[in-house]
Parts: sequence; C-alpha cells; structure tokens
Amino acid sequence: MLTSTLIKELNKVLPAKDILSSIEERYVYSVDASNNPQYKTTMPDAVVFVENIEQVQKIVQIANKQMIPIICRGAGTNTVGACVATPGGIILNFSKMNKILEINPKNLTARVQPGVIVGDLQKEVEKIGLFYPPDPSNLKVSTIGGSIAQNSAGARCFKYGATKDYIIDMLVVTANAQLIRTGSNTIKNATGYNLGSLFIGSEGTLGIVVEATVKLIPKPESSQVIMAYFDTVEDSITAVNKIIENQLFPATIDFMDKNAIETVEKFYPAGLICDKDAALIIEIDGYETSLSHQRNTLCEILRENNAANIQYSTNTTESETIWNARRSSMAACTKLKPNVTTDDIIVPRNNLAKLVKGIQDICARHNLTVCLVGHVGDGSVHPQIPIDYNDKNEYKHYKIAKSEIYHLAVKLGGTLSGEHGIGLEKKAFISQVVEGGALDYMRQIKKLFDPNNILNPYKIF
Ligand SMILES: Cc1cc2nc3c(=O)[nH]c(=O)nc-3n(C[C@H](O)[C@H](O)[C@H](O)COP(=O)(O)OP(=O)(O)OC[C@H]3O[C@@H](n4cnc5c(N)ncnc54)[C@H](O)[C@@H]3O)c2cc1C
Repeated sequence: MLTSTLIKELNKVLPAKDILSSIEERYVYSVDASNNPQYKTTMPDAVVFVENIEQVQKIVQIANKQMIPIICRGAGTNTVGACVATPGGIILNFSKMNKILEINPKNLTARVQPGVIVGDLQKEVEKIGLFYPPDPSNLKVSTIGGSIAQNSAGARCFKYGATKDYIIDMLVVTANAQLIRTGSNTIKNATGYNLGSLFIGSEGTLGIVVEATVKLIPKPESSQVIMAYFDTVEDSITAVNKIIENQLFPATIDFMDKNAIETVEKFYPAGLICDKDAALIIEIDGYETSLSHQRNTLCEILRENNAANIQYSTNTTESETIWNARRSSMAACTKLKPNVTTDDIIVPRNNLAKLVKGIQDICARHNLTVCLVGHVGDGSVHPQIPIDYNDKNEYKHYKIAKSEIYHLAVKLGGTLSGEHGIGLEKKAFISQVVEGGALDYMRQIKKLFDPNNILNPYKIF
C-alpha cells in the first residue's frame, strides 16, 4: 500500500500533477496488452510521469528506501504481462521522455529518450533518407524503451534483424540509482563485456533505460510488396523454404492463414482474397532497377510451389494498405470475441509447417478459433485466439491449448518467444527451454544488478 510518507517523498521529486494515486487511475495501469483477467487483481500503488534522468534516479532512491518495486511502462503494449505491477509498486511512465535528441547523418545514429514512439523515429529519419528497420506490428504506438526491454522485432527482422541489432549505446539507471553507460557512440565496440546486451530483452528487470543511441542505415531506394495465395498451408511453407534455399533475401516473408485473411478483410477491407488457405506477404527492397529482377525470380519460385494467385503493389499506397491490413490482425480478432490473446513461438524454419498445422489442430481440438499470422521467414508465428474470458469452459480449454502449443514448439526444437518476451505469461514454462544451469546464471545476474528485487520483480522466472 502506498503510505502518505511515500506520496510526500514522491512530491519532493515531481509536481502533484505527475503523480497518479486514485484507485481509478491506478486501475487503468493494472493491465497491459496481455489482457490477462488474472492480472487485474493487482494494482500499482502510484503512477509517476518522469521528465528527466535525475527524476528517475531520485525515484529509484525512494523505492530503495521504502523497498517498493518500480515497473517501467512505455505504451503498455507488450503481450506477456511484462509491465503489470504484480506485487504493487510505482509505475514509471515514460510518455513525457519522448524526445529525439539528435539525428546524426554523419555517424548514421540517432540518440533518443525511451518514450519515443518507434514509428515516429522511423518517420523522422526517413525524411533524410535514413532507415531504422525494427518494425513491431504496433510500431505506431510502441516505444523505444519498451522495444529495447522486449528486444522487439517484426516483419523486417528476416533481412534486417531485431532491436538488439540497432542499439549501440544506452544510459541506464541501475537499481542503486547509479547512471551507467553501456556502450559507445561507435558502430563496433570490443571494450570489455557487452553490458548493453544484458539489458536488451531484460524486460525492465535489470535496469532502467533512460537514453539510447540507435544505429541507422540508408533507406532502401525502392520497395514493393508481393502477395502470394496458396490452396494449402503446406504449399505456402514449402514456398518459404524454397525462397530461402534459393538464397533470395527479401525484406519480409510474412504469413496469414485463412481465418486471419477472412477476419482482417472484414475489419479492414484491403482486397485480400478470402477463399485461399494461406497467404505470404513478401516485401522486396533495394535499388529501383533491381526490383523487377527480384520480383520475377521470386514469382517464379512461388509459381513452382503452387501459388494459386500472385499480386503485387504498384505504389506506396498499395503497399501500405497491405501492411495496414496485416498489422490490424489482432484488432480484427476483437470483432470475433470480447477478448483476444496472441503469442510468438518460434521454431527452426524446417519445422514451420509442422508448427502451423499443429497449432491449427490443437485449437480445433479445444474448439478455439485461431487466426494465425507470423513472420515465417524467421520461423515465428503468432496464434491469435479470440476468446470470451467470462466463458469459464472456454478459458480452461484455452489454457490447456496454450501449454500444448508451447510443448509442440519445444518438441520441434523451437522456443517460447521470438520477440514478445516472457513476462508473467510464460514464466511457468521457461524451464522447458532454458536449462537449469543457464536459468541459475540468469537468477544470479538479476541478484547482482538488483539485490533488493525492486526492478519489475517476479517477471521472466
Ligand atoms: C497489436 C500488437 C502487435 C504487436 N506486434 C509485435 C511485433 O510484430 N513484434 C514484436 O516484437 N512485438 C510486437 N508486439 C509486442 C509489443 O509491441 C512489444 O513488446 C513492444 O515493443 C512493447 O513496447 P511498449 O512501449 O508498449 O512497452 P511496454 O509494454 O510498456 O513495456 C514492455 C516492457 O518494457 C519495460 N520497459 C518499458 N520502458 C522501459 C525502459 N525505459 N527501461 C527499462 N524497461 C522498460 C517494461 O517494464 C516492460 O517489461 C505487439 C503488440 C501488440 C499489442
């Protein structure tokens, strides 16, 4: 419980308007995009809006004195309960630390505050011909801080990599309120341990990112989106493997199954063909003059692998329409049931067809609808399951189906998360994929960085 002493302490650091403590305000912050009904029972004690690094350090000092948890929050769009205040605590809201501090076209870097929206950074750097590739599907709202903490990726990961591949330096406030720098403003750095990599993907459990320097690359001159439809899921996945075997390197190889295509087309009419079992969304990019060659080679492979229909965009608006449709898949699912859940298991690509069919079979057996989308070029799929949490029987079956899906991913040599993280949602399963010795090292690292267990406690393991 938040004591009046604690409020008084917070008031010494922040103006009253930047501290939320009413029950209604705190309730809003009791959930994130995981939308798990179990989490609503725990509420933070306070929500604070920080504007600078010094305030963050002072709040960490207070938290240490009072032994109260601190949970960082970007846009709250993680899907695993990573920013829910399980044992209460102070939510550190970064929406006011949202400035792009510098774009350096000579170094090809940008220095940003943690609350900067990923899509906003992309738009700004693209104005001067540069490119920040990591593209979580909700890039219009998710923040750099949240993306670093979850090591977010997206469709373009196939060619360009995940968030971890673009963070060259960070300023981090540690659990004892010290400010440390994790890297340098250089593209390479072999100076001691790669400390930054520990914080990336650590879900706010090891330190608080208060500034990041990201690497930029030149924006590809041109791009085009190819949509290929298939009569069977197997054919679509075989086509994915053939594209890769032929050493073609498109920017994305994304996937939608029949349920996803139909559900999205009803929600966001984009002209998708609804009578096919699967579709691939392949974006090619590079020099304008190279596109037709790339497209022709790709289309040849797609046809050889039974693509029933192939379409491609002829301008940016058409490309954006296709991506908007694909990225709206989770929102579209909310039209089917009051709630929707998503996941992000990943397997080696050669087992992708087994994973996709396996998930469809598991959901059918439990009488659950599943809309499958995914960044299949990486071997990762997002089973999006619309559900009514008030239907106890459905919820029971959903829970069993989930653990069967995780079991299947592990059996196929894969792992629990390719990009969404573990949070609260999957911590009970982590020992299935991270063996005891490694898990023990992770726990020791947590203890070393956060001996009082105040940084986003009880997440991951
Ligand atoms: C519709 C939808 C589509 C999505 N698509 C993708 C996708 O394609 N790829 C993908 O990877 N993810 C995807 N996600 C998940 C989500 O986008 C990512 O997890 C995301 O980047 C989280 O950003 P956020 O700002 O919302 O962070 P939050 O959810 O607010 O926080 C996420 C984690 O980061 C921590 N955190 C936040 N800020 C800081 C900070 N400054 N310092 C330390 N820790 C911090 C939090 O404590 C929490 O543990 C999707 C989510 C939704 C709802």
